[in-house]
Amino acid sequence: MPAISNWRELMACRLCWKIALAVFGLILAVESAILVPSYQRFERNTLTQVANEVIIAIEPTLAASGYGTRDDLLEQGLANAIGQYRILGTLVAGRGGGVLKAAGATAGLEAQLAQAMPMGGGGRRSIDGAQLDLAWPSADGLTVAARVDTSGVAVEVIAYTLRIAGLVALIVLVVTAGTMVVLHRLVLRPVLRLRESSLAAGADPDAADSHVVAPGPRDEIGELIEAHNALLGRVAASKRRDRAVAEERARFLSHHEPLSGLPNRVALLEHLGQLRPVSGASPATVSLHLVKLLHFRVLNASFGAARCDELLRQFAARLKQASGPGDFVAHLGADRFAVACATLGFTPEKAAEFAERILAAVSERYDLGAAHPVSLAVRIGIASAAGDRPDGKTLVNEAELALERTRAEDAARYEFYSPAFGEEAKARQTLSRELERGIAAGELFPVLQPKIALMPGGGVRLSGAEVLVRWRHPSRGLVGPADFIPLAESTGLIVPLGERVLADTCGLVRAWLDRHAWAPRLAVNLSARQFTLSDLDLRLERALAQARIAAEYLEVEVTESAAMKDVQRTAETLARLRALGVRVSIDDFGTGYSSLAYLKRFAPDTIKIDKSFVDDIGSDRNSEAICDAILRLGQALGCRVVAEGVETEAQVAFLRRRRCDEVQGYFFGKPVPAAEFEANWVAARAAA
Ligand code: C2E
Ligand code: CA
Ligand code: CA
Repeated sequence: MPAISNWRELMACRLCWKIALAVFGLILAVESAILVPSYQRFERNTLTQVANEVIIAIEPTLAASGYGTRDDLLEQGLANAIGQYRILGTLVAGRGGGVLKAAGATAGLEAQLAQAMPMGGGGRRSIDGAQLDLAWPSADGLTVAARVDTSGVAVEVIAYTLRIAGLVALIVLVVTAGTMVVLHRLVLRPVLRLRESSLAAGADPDAADSHVVAPGPRDEIGELIEAHNALLGRVAASKRRDRAVAEERARFLSHHEPLSGLPNRVALLEHLGQLRPVSGASPATVSLHLVKLLHFRVLNASFGAARCDELLRQFAARLKQASGPGDFVAHLGADRFAVACATLGFTPEKAAEFAERILAAVSERYDLGAAHPVSLAVRIGIASAAGDRPDGKTLVNEAELALERTRAEDAARYEFYSPAFGEEAKARQTLSRELERGIAAGELFPVLQPKIALMPGGGVRLSGAEVLVRWRHPSRGLVGPADFIPLAESTGLIVPLGERVLADTCGLVRAWLDRHAWAPRLAVNLSARQFTLSDLDLRLERALAQARIAAEYLEVEVTESAAMKDVQRTAETLARLRALGVRVSIDDFGTGYSSLAYLKRFAPDTIKIDKSFVDDIGSDRNSEAICDAILRLGQALGCRVVAEGVETEAQVAFLRRRRCDEVQGYFFGKPVPAAEFEANWVAARAAA
């Protein structure tokens, strides 16, 4: 029998109720069909029995009266019969049909004589069923009729019917309950298990097969369970396959550069960490050639991303072709590729040969469908490590350092890593930490170099000064900007450093105005990184406000190369600075693009002829021509031209002839500390 909880489950089973109710109805219908005839048969039998009993009660009386020969006995006998067996009345008819004797209620009873039938047959019931008139032939040609009270028969029939109905109800109950229990065992429980399993498998399709249902009986339900389990198995298998494919794809993506389809940095490091001895037990030497495409950003800007992608693909293909079958070619992102080789008998000559082979392969021209075929400049950094499974990160870093070194010498197209490079990098790190500390400790200070206006008629006058930073290092002594500005630029320290120089500069103007009621315009240098700060104008504005000086006292010098990095942005930035009232000067002019169109857009107040051209005045016609051209360019655009690095009188004379506005250089004054500059230049000019 099911347990209590199963009962609840059973009671809640909609399916069981439906089936049980159907069974219930069916049994009820069948039982009713059987009950109605049996009820009629019961009534008929009861009546027959009553009739027989009446006959058996009356016949002896007839016999005792000699079948009518003794009138008195007949009369007496009939009278006695009244009341027995619910006899209400009786009469006897002779052979001729005439009534011989009657007793009790016999009204209309003679009519029954004509229907006389032997032994309990026939008879006629009153409409309400309370009376039964019957007649039968007796001995000696007599016919007897009797009226019987049958009101009791109806009660008996009802009792009988109720008994049968009760029995039927019991049977229906038992059958229904039994059906429910059987249904529960055979159908509901497996169905519930299937439902549970389906829900669990649906929630966890990857492991659908861990939710299979225990095998069922050998019937349709069992087959259903079998089919269900098979389905779960297939779902799980397909899910696992999908996942395996997805994982494989994710692995591929995480280990490959999508553009070139080559393994990426992650894959390269993994590969280096898994290198086995090349042959037998002897360890090999692993070398890493880090290949960098130069001017990638410029290429991207001039050819567009799509063509550049194609270029990278072709480049990757050539690199692969140039490499040996055992070499591992990777794409480390954008403009960087790497080839790792594990070889026995590694020599620098072989590595150099390989580098040459790569250079030869990749420097052939590329056809990108553009107007002109493209050729690429490439540099290679080479690092090597003896033994299998080298430390991949170190190897890549060393190759990076070697690559970095190729920048120092223009001619070198590849370079080997040497431990000294590592030391250099370490030294840079140390210097960078020192610089950070030095900036905070106030070890940096400005020196000022005068800018001299060449007046018509041969006179000269102080027109301004350039602020140049110096670092008084506690142990290294005085350090020039060439030794720390590039480092500050690459580490980002240039931002706090520049902030410091700017504040000092504005502070000097304030102090001189206070002391001399006059101050020259001071020019500060902005490095490329400072120049791209989005809030540059706000920073300048803040510094001016803090020192309470007008913007016209401040000038910024931006090198031509920094200005050309992003022409659009430079034009916007310069416009904002000019709106502030700050002067703008293009430094080192002539070393870069020197394009008239760009210069027009930048609209600087001043351009500074680079020192390298000024140096050659008097010795190199070409440089003189360039100076000449720049001066004319400035005059055409209406901006002042300053020549820097002027050291000789001859240079001054040349520049004066060409109507150069201002000169700056050792000839008039070296950069000097603020106090000295104030005494030598500011005080004198203020007094004039
Ligand atoms: P620059 O802006 O081109 O500065 C001119 C450099 O030429 C200065 O070197 C100056 O001392 C030097 N110079 C001026 N006249 C003559 C001359 O007649 N003969 C010779 N031989 N040299 C002359 P310095 O001070 O060593 O600065 C080098 C560079 O460092 C500057 O080049 C500038 O780009 C950068 N720099 C200096 N101070 C700062 C600064 O505060 N911030 C930023 N961002 N850069 C700075
Ligand atoms: Ca400058
Ligand atoms: Ca310069």
